[in-house]
Amino acid sequence: MSTYTPMIQQYLKIKAEYKDCFLFFRLGDFYEMFFDDALAASRELEITLTSRDGGSADRIPMCGVPYHSAENYIKNLVEKGFKVAICEQVEDPKTAKGVVKRDVVQLITPGTVMEGAMLDEKENNYLAGISEFSAETFIITYNDLSTGETSVARISTGWEAVLGELFNRPVKEVVIAPDLPDSFQDDLKEKLLVTVSYQQETGITEEFQYLAEKLNKDQQLVEGFGRMLNYIQNTQKRSLDHLKPAHIIELNQFMALDMFSKRNLELTQTILRKGKQGSLLWVLDQTVTAMGARMLKKWLERPLLNKQSIVQRQEIVAAFLEHFFERESIREALKSVYDLERLAGRVSFGNVNARDLIQVKQSINKIPEIKLILSQFDSKSVQKLGDEIDDLQSLSQLLEESISEDAPLTIKEGGIIKDGYNDRLDDYRDASKNGKKWISELEKKEKQATNIKSLKIGFNRVFGYYIEVTRANLHLLPEGKYERKQTLTNAERFITPELKEKESLILEAEEKSVELEYELFIELRERVKQFIPALQALAEQISNIDVLQSFATVSESNDYTRPTFNEERKVNIKQGRHPVIEKVMKEESFVPNDVTMDEEAEMLLITGPNMSGKSTYMRQLALTAIMAQIGCFVPCSSAEMPVFDQIFTRIGAADDLVSGQSTFMVEMLEAKHAITQATENSLILLDEIGRGTSTYDGMALAQAIIEYLHEHVQAKTLFSTHYHELTGLEDSLGKLRNIHVRAEEYQGNVIFLHQIQPGAADESYGIHVAKLAELPPDLITRASEILQQFENNDKSMVKKSEKDPGLPPQTEEEQQQMSFFVSEGAANQPKQTNPKQAHSLIKEIEQLNIMEMTPMEAMNALYQLQKKAKQ
Ligand code: ADP
Ligand code: MG
Repeated sequence: MSTYTPMIQQYLKIKAEYKDCFLFFRLGDFYEMFFDDALAASRELEITLTSRDGGSADRIPMCGVPYHSAENYIKNLVEKGFKVAICEQVEDPKTAKGVVKRDVVQLITPGTVMEGAMLDEKENNYLAGISEFSAETFIITYNDLSTGETSVARISTGWEAVLGELFNRPVKEVVIAPDLPDSFQDDLKEKLLVTVSYQQETGITEEFQYLAEKLNKDQQLVEGFGRMLNYIQNTQKRSLDHLKPAHIIELNQFMALDMFSKRNLELTQTILRKGKQGSLLWVLDQTVTAMGARMLKKWLERPLLNKQSIVQRQEIVAAFLEHFFERESIREALKSVYDLERLAGRVSFGNVNARDLIQVKQSINKIPEIKLILSQFDSKSVQKLGDEIDDLQSLSQLLEESISEDAPLTIKEGGIIKDGYNDRLDDYRDASKNGKKWISELEKKEKQATNIKSLKIGFNRVFGYYIEVTRANLHLLPEGKYERKQTLTNAERFITPELKEKESLILEAEEKSVELEYELFIELRERVKQFIPALQALAEQISNIDVLQSFATVSESNDYTRPTFNEERKVNIKQGRHPVIEKVMKEESFVPNDVTMDEEAEMLLITGPNMSGKSTYMRQLALTAIMAQIGCFVPCSSAEMPVFDQIFTRIGAADDLVSGQSTFMVEMLEAKHAITQATENSLILLDEIGRGTSTYDGMALAQAIIEYLHEHVQAKTLFSTHYHELTGLEDSLGKLRNIHVRAEEYQGNVIFLHQIQPGAADESYGIHVAKLAELPPDLITRASEILQQFENNDKSMVKKSEKDPGLPPQTEEEQQQMSFFVSEGAANQPKQTNPKQAHSLIKEIEQLNIMEMTPMEAMNALYQLQKKAKQ
């Protein structure tokens, strides 16, 4: 260390405290990086790697980015999940003795970015915190630094639920204690793809106690919140006045959606492209403001359970829907409302400029108009919405008096404060203005005196005011009075003592006025700080209005109707549609279908050919339920529904490519969630369960799952299957109904009607679908032949299973008999079995860990087993 130059020693000392960050070390007009940081940064940012002498034997790797364009480089790194520590010179290099003092002034991390370019305006940017208190109990905290919103939630059902809660939320970074188990940390990095940061300290200092006021002195909540707060303090190192007191999210007041369902239902992003386009959010988002767009997303992620709260939203949507013109006026007014929530955040952070404050003013100036429109509605709920708004006229007035409409972006060059706001400033301005007038008069005088028409007085930063005379006219200048300052190709520039004297007066006045303007602006910003809570409240009210008008707007343009809710757990939807598919369908139109479920029909077993619309029908119900419970109207001609407490889905096509689990394992995990956590108030969608394994295996599991749900869970369940055999269950399971999607054959081709009808489907159209896909004709013919053969061979087997009309074997003994019966029937083997050998075979099968096997390993194991069985 001691051989390094003092500056490099300083660097190393600071870097040691910020090991997991890129340290941007300010050197003049550059941020430099050294050693490993330089190697990594040159790779990540594609900038040139150089080196410098640092006192040691080897030269030190170095790379840098210009100070003025650093933002883009920082953005690039942060978007990749890295953290950046900004290390500035904290004393004036001119007066410093020895190495200039430097300090880290801010950490920019994925979860705490504040700069406009790094934020998606329609999306919150959350930093989340996780604290573990027992195997079952975790506290999750959320903070959006750009808006100041902070919330805390308790999870009491284990780690999976933590993942489910965080999944698909706009969380970029998670703060944890260093001792959180490694497997959990891996889940965060691999399943949620977030940056993980550490914070041990959880104590809350006196000055921030008020932020924990609403946490009811609950030790765990306070500790969880404290961890996050400490992290924010450590990274931001600046005013956090805009942080709102943390509020508790009671997760049991919202519909629970596990990780799988959130993904499968494509609420806010699609599975394949990961984009908003094609998601439910995409259909529902007709918000006008960025704040509204963020609020809508939040609502969509947390559908309500309280019927009264849902109905409250519906009332307003209904009123907005009925009054087209008023709604359009509100939309129009909202267009002039800027992102007050984030502007408030910038006020607190001290990076707000005059233009931002103009935006605040313009936004506030729209509020009285919005209040007026709302007051004219005949709906009490809408009137109340307007009455509750504080239109902040005192803030508007303050900004009106102080900030000039055409203020520049920078706050250090003047031109911000209006005349008449401050007497001293007005005096300076007068002085400078008079001086300028004097100079233009001097120009006139000099022209006359010298008789040079082209003589002019100009100004530049180096020489100040000067008199310019073209070369051709130089001979007209009298000797003595003019002092030559600069020679150009065509002209010469002169000064006179008189000019210089006036100049210093003007410049002094200007300099003072710029300084004063800066002071006044900072003072003003402090005064605006006091309005932060009021601005935040206003932002929330405006976002609410925006989301509700968005619901009304989409309900009108898409022809949605208002659903009603019942306590009898009845679903009665007439002419229901899939909100997204109907939007993307171009030529044909979507075929509406009814859904009827009640205590007589808790489960619907859906059969029908591939591509007929089974999955669509199932998702349609789930999306309708979610839309209903966020207060929006729904795509159908009428709807009665229960309030669902949870929705579970197992839907194909969502194979877990990311975490590398086999399709079948994912299927089983998703099914497990539903089976273990659903209540009779839940909705379960199981789409073609068992498809990921062999036929008999799959069918057996499917049947067992249906029976289990029917018996123990009694949730409303939609179960689609291609195992036609399962339709027999209707006879034995009282609350199960068969329905199917109709398709018709026309001249050897299949025509999908997409119509749901009672009863089971009768034929498989797989080969016809293959034909539609234009597989070679020979292949199609061959497939038909093979099918024929199967059907002939299988007759005996089908009969056998008909003997037992779907009734589940009850005792263990019966089950064993059944399994032998099936396997014998399937393999057509002679049945001289030595009981001892059979027993060992059963043992071996029992010990197989099927869940952990790849399909290939399973095939191999099966092959071995069969070989033994044949022996
Ligand atoms: P399945 O699950 O039975 O294989 P899907 O639900 O995936 O079938 O539907 C296949 C395609 O059929 C969908 O992509 C959609 O374009 C179309 N479709 C489904 N339901 C309808 C409907 N009710 N009206 C019009 N088209 C539909
Ligand atoms: Mg399907």
